[in-house]
Amino acid sequence: MAENEHFFQILQKKIGSSLRMHPWTTAQLNSSNIRLMSRKNLGEKLLDQILPLFEVSEELTRFAGLQPLYDGINLLDPVYCRKDEVLRMLEKCTGLDDSQREQLTSAVMVFMDIVKKTNLNPMQLKSITTLSLWWKIFPELKPWYALKWLWQQGIAVPHSQSGYRAWRRFSHGSNSESAKNANLHPKRWLEICEEQNVFETAFEADRLAAAFSGEGRHAGLAGVCGNLPDCNNCELSLECHWYATDGNSEYMAIEERIQRNKISTADIPELMKWLLSSNPEEAKALQNSLNAEAPLKDWSRERLRELENQQPLDSNLILRLKALKEMCRNYGIEKLKPKDQFNSSREIFNHFHQQLENQKQEQFIIVLLDNKHRYLAEEDVTKGILNKSLVHPREVFASAIEHRAVALICIHNHPSGDPEPSQQDFRITERLVEVGKLVGIPVLDHVIVGGENYTSFADKGLL
Ligand code: SF4
Repeated sequence: MAENEHFFQILQKKIGSSLRMHPWTTAQLNSSNIRLMSRKNLGEKLLDQILPLFEVSEELTRFAGLQPLYDGINLLDPVYCRKDEVLRMLEKCTGLDDSQREQLTSAVMVFMDIVKKTNLNPMQLKSITTLSLWWKIFPELKPWYALKWLWQQGIAVPHSQSGYRAWRRFSHGSNSESAKNANLHPKRWLEICEEQNVFETAFEADRLAAAFSGEGRHAGLAGVCGNLPDCNNCELSLECHWYATDGNSEYMAIEERIQRNKISTADIPELMKWLLSSNPEEAKALQNSLNAEAPLKDWSRERLRELENQQPLDSNLILRLKALKEMCRNYGIEKLKPKDQFNSSREIFNHFHQQLENQKQEQFIIVLLDNKHRYLAEEDVTKGILNKSLVHPREVFASAIEHRAVALICIHNHPSGDPEPSQQDFRITERLVEVGKLVGIPVLDHVIVGGENYTSFADKGLL
């Protein structure tokens, strides 16, 4: 059996009728009735679609700035259309830059060529020869956009990118670019749908594959082979290469590892590149700056600035990197809730050390406790070089009284990484303990965080 046919054969045999009976699939297949195309309608809708892709400002509309383009696309003669004519039309538009004019000139010329060659006959509009012209109109070779747009205009052309991905998994055991024979351009998918002999039309094959790959999920049609394939509930699993190989292929793209629950085989720099950047230039700069040994911890201000200097002005890679760093830093911090209890100084350290370990300045925090020594609230008392005047008992106990605390714990950090208490720390603690006794709010502990270590005054019997 031909490779292209096998997937559709099994799909049809095992779940074809249940997929087909679902209202989503029925509606998709019925809407393929051929409609008469109007050139005015098609041309204007095409402009509406491609202008944002050419980054033309939203403020430029068919009534403001772009009127000569919208009018002109309806008036040009497809048979005798010349480039200088299109250029003149675009020069009358306001607000376009040179590159946008150039892109639009080429798009309008290709559109006229399509109108000339097909006379907007829907059968010809979807022939592979015409489709290759449509693909030229869409920028940066976004051919799937072109197919999806044509389908929205009522042209029954296969366009399921996820159906094609399901086919690749089933037939080749991989959906990544490196998979043997995999060519991610939709031309290959169109050929596959055309060549199959199981369904009546290529479009029908595409829609069934779309249903199988989860495109109808929003309408209650649970396709199993979507972004996260549900292989254990898939009726095609016995014949599926993806299921059989279980990720033993030599190379697996990061997306595929995530889909196969093998994310632990990816290293942190790899994951960071994938998460942070789809732009090759940014990815390259990031790659050069990453320290594989300490990919996240090592991002000092200086290194961030260095990386920023290699980026175009409009890149927000640095912001994304900082956001990721913050997310990772926060991940280990479980927010305390009222009534949570600390049972040891180690628990206090575990809770605060990620927050404090990379602080450049000393930070003094108090945790306020209720009558059962359960968590009530925490307060930042001060930041800077600690001395008696910065950590004043008035500030500490005012907050404790306001929260009706019955006891408190002090925590602060040593940016040097050495958790040993200084003379200043002893004096501050002594003073707070004394005042605590006077006001009836005892200080139960003072924990000093220094890098990955800590000192507890209570554990050392220093209180
Ligand atoms: S077994 Fe998994 S990968 Fe294979 S077709 Fe089914 S859902 Fe897709």
